[in-house]
Amino acid sequence: MTDNQKSLIDKMRLDGCGYVKIAKAIGVSENTVKSYCRRQKNTDCKEEIDYCAECGIPIDKSKRGSRRFCSDACRTKWWNEHPKAEMLYKANCACCGQEILMRRQNERKYCSHRCYITARYKDGGGNG
Ligand SMILES: [Zn+2]
Ligand SMILES: [Zn+2]
Repeated sequence: MTDNQKSLIDKMRLDGCGYVKIAKAIGVSENTVKSYCRRQKNTDCKEEIDYCAECGIPIDKSKRGSRRFCSDACRTKWWNEHPKAEMLYKANCACCGQEILMRRQNERKYCSHRCYITARYKDGGGNG
């Protein structure tokens, strides 16, 4: 594979694409994509075996379902280290204009409760 194909795989994986879709898009076999992903310890690949995103040990999915962490301790630690890792969406506070990050689109409109209150008083209720 070329570096270009590899970076495309990385990009598509981040977009949540499956192996088949990626393989078709870049013109290699599904197995090539799989084995490439398997070698990328840092990317979150949907394999039969998952590796804890924090400590890297394999997770027994039959016990824990689809998980990214081997334990609650690792989950807590990881999120402490990556507090904005899944804050994929950006918006500006509808009140003060400050940038806010969120996990789901339109999850929040205001940077803080204070702005929410301020905006409500200003607009006389708004559209809720
Ligand atoms: Zn762990
Ligand atoms: Zn604000």
